[in-house]
Amino acid sequence: MSSLDPETKMQFLFALRSKGVTEARVLNAMEEIDRGPFIRGLFAQRAYEDMPLPIACGQTISQPSVVGLMTQALQVSARDTVLEVGTGSGYQAAILSKLARRVYTIDRHARLVREARQLFESLQLSNITSLVGDGSHGLPDQAPFDRILVTAAAEDPPGPLLAQLKVGGIMVVPVGQSDTVQTLIRVVKTEDGLEYDELRPVRFVPLLEGLGKET
Ligand code: SAH
Repeated sequence: MSSLDPETKMQFLFALRSKGVTEARVLNAMEEIDRGPFIRGLFAQRAYEDMPLPIACGQTISQPSVVGLMTQALQVSARDTVLEVGTGSGYQAAILSKLARRVYTIDRHARLVREARQLFESLQLSNITSLVGDGSHGLPDQAPFDRILVTAAAEDPPGPLLAQLKVGGIMVVPVGQSDTVQTLIRVVKTEDGLEYDELRPVRFVPLLEGLGKET
């Protein structure tokens, strides 16, 4: 965010802290990745507000504080391979790329993946692999993963994703039947099975089956 004026940057980081994003590694990553380029058109001028905003294909870029809290809940270490389902603008993947060894990110909309990939290249985020596909099946060829982050809401944590999580691995996913409010949950895979805990209410677009129609 170096091109940003210091006051806007300070306010952005202050809003994150006041909403509970307190881990230095996460704040540093969010300071490094400028949200501006991930938002095109009219809404770009609101990039530094703590708000979700519309992106192409009828999707949304998440609220920065929610991105921060999800990233924090994922407890990513520098050795980790992370799968993100729901590339959207690419903003969340860019932040993960600063914290993890490798990030795979998948979206059902080819246009979103194409635009995100261009940004990753221009920002020289070379440890991100972006793919078009239905991420609810995960990525069997690259599995297992240390961390999985789902940024679209499912009724239940998708079985293939749970199967592709390493023992000791963590998955963060919004779940719920409603379109208006879901619960963000964290799943930890142990030797004995899966442990779930509920983190907070959130609102995400739904995890849909199959590929998106190209727009
Ligand atoms: N993480 C994004 C925001 C995600 S919005 C960001 O940082 O901007 C949710 C995204 O999930 C949308 O782009 C939508 O196309 C995608 N999505 C929904 N269902 C999906 C599925 N089954 N597989 C892959 N992506 C999916």
